[in-house]
Amino acid sequence: MPANSSRPDSIVVAIDGPSGSGKSTVARGVAARLGLRYVDTGAMYRALTWWAISLDVDLAETDRVASLARELPLQLGTDPADPHVFVDGNDIGDAIRLPEISAAVSAVATNLGVREELVRRQRAFAAEGGVVIEGRDITTVVAPDAPVRVLLTASEATRLARRALEVHGSDDEAALEATRDQVVRRDADDSTVATFTVAADGVTVVDSSHLTPDETIEAVLTLVPAEARQ
Ligand code: C5P
Repeated sequence: MPANSSRPDSIVVAIDGPSGSGKSTVARGVAARLGLRYVDTGAMYRALTWWAISLDVDLAETDRVASLARELPLQLGTDPADPHVFVDGNDIGDAIRLPEISAAVSAVATNLGVREELVRRQRAFAAEGGVVIEGRDITTVVAPDAPVRVLLTASEATRLARRALEVHGSDDEAALEATRDQVVRRDADDSTVATFTVAADGVTVVDSSHLTPDETIEAVLTLVPAEARQ
């Protein structure tokens, strides 16, 4: 089934956005509501980063890290209620969210050999259809023909506050400062290899700054063809 069909069993919903835009929550919510699979492409870059670090590989050795990408024994769960991540039999779902991985992941994601391999794996999910895929380059590179393409944005202040609450349980000044590198610096680094601050042609911008997660999910669902919502 081609990825650009809008048949309910084959629909592809592509969602991009910067960190703290609410992508994961919204993508999982949309997948659950439509009975679709969910693919978190950021988790793939994080899993490779975790694996390289656990093998003591220097992330600056680009050829070595790219070849690790091709060997990555990744098992990515696509159930939006339980999107587990296993590498080589290890459940690394929590480990890949640690600040150490968030701080290192851009060095892996800006490796073009890595992107070639992970994009190849992501396109395979899109080609099967019936999936919500979220990341930084899904609407432009991985699934540019997806029938629903969304750029999820939020103001920098909102994104910082969300991440601070998530990681530190508070959005006071100290927590915001501690989160700044994870949000602002990481987005700046990631922007060198993917365009996710400006919507490409045909991509709908949904600004979640003043929306609750449920309202944002509803806003994305309105973009999905009616036959795929039944
Ligand atoms: O979305 P999340 O914050 O988990 O993504 C982690 C990292 O993975 C991003 O900072 C970025 O470096 C990389 N990434 C990417 N392309 C994607 C998804 C994520 O480069 N499609």
